[in-house]
Amino acid sequence: MAQEDCKFTELTPSRITCPECAKGELNPARGRFGPVYKCTQRGCKFWVDSRPTGEVCGYLRNGVECGSLIVEGTKTIPDRCSDRSCPNRNPHKLAKQ
Ligand SMILES: [Zn+2]
Ligand SMILES: [Zn+2]
Repeated sequence: MAQEDCKFTELTPSRITCPECAKGELNPARGRFGPVYKCTQRGCKFWVDSRPTGEVCGYLRNGVECGSLIVEGTKTIPDRCSDRSCPNRNPHKLAKQ
């Protein structure tokens, strides 16, 4: 049984406005490696790999807030930043302070 397909049917539009173009919304789409959330605006390439929660990442990098979208985590990883270069991408690995 294909688990990814089963998961995909549960995906619904996020109703989150695209942070890149501020015109489209992020809707579920089939990505190369499984379901992703992609901007509906023609020509906009923005996408995240999990359902956006509507929150933005407040992780401070050199005193500046990251500002990228937070996406839903998995069973083992809490909600996390969509930016792969952000340390908050892997919150379970961040040292608890
Ligand atoms: Zn967009
Ligand atoms: Zn971040």
